[in-house]
Amino acid sequence: MAEEKLIASFAVDHTNLKPGIYVSRQDTFQGAPITTYDIRMTSPNQEPAMAPAAIHTIEHIIATWLRNNPIWSDRVVYWGPMGCLTGMYLIMHGSYTPQEIRQLMIEAYQHLAQYDGPVPGAYPACCGNYLMHDLPMAKWEAKRYVQRLQDDFHCQYPNVQRPTDQSGATFYDA
Ligand SMILES: [Zn+2]
Repeated sequence: MAEEKLIASFAVDHTNLKPGIYVSRQDTFQGAPITTYDIRMTSPNQEPAMAPAAIHTIEHIIATWLRNNPIWSDRVVYWGPMGCLTGMYLIMHGSYTPQEIRQLMIEAYQHLAQYDGPVPGAYPACCGNYLMHDLPMAKWEAKRYVQRLQDDFHCQYPNVQRPTDQSGATFYDA
């Protein structure tokens, strides 16, 4: 059975993108929706991106929180950092509004902002770069993002025409 793919013909305009939560893409697998959320923490190309060590710690602590969450853990497919270091990707079974994900992320990042103790999984057997962590900066980023989610929420993408590369292949970033 062919899987239906819903691929946007427009790319995100990263010169005018504000922190918030966006639906990056929606796919269906065996009739069920799979939604990729853009958990955008900084304004790309307008303010500094996050430090690799900080975003690595954000990955560990919030992945642990999400996958131990009694309500949401079964719905989480993937949680991980964007290569551009301006946010995270959250992939979910199902289809939820950015407002529903907003509340989940406020709880997740509040947990991180108040986190004390060792970073979960930050040792060689569990992590490919276990010394590259920065809990104080991860907490600083989390606190700022919670404020942004609460006070200045954005969930509508600014779009531009999707470009092609030299071979004619259409550009995607995820
Ligand atoms: Zn790691």
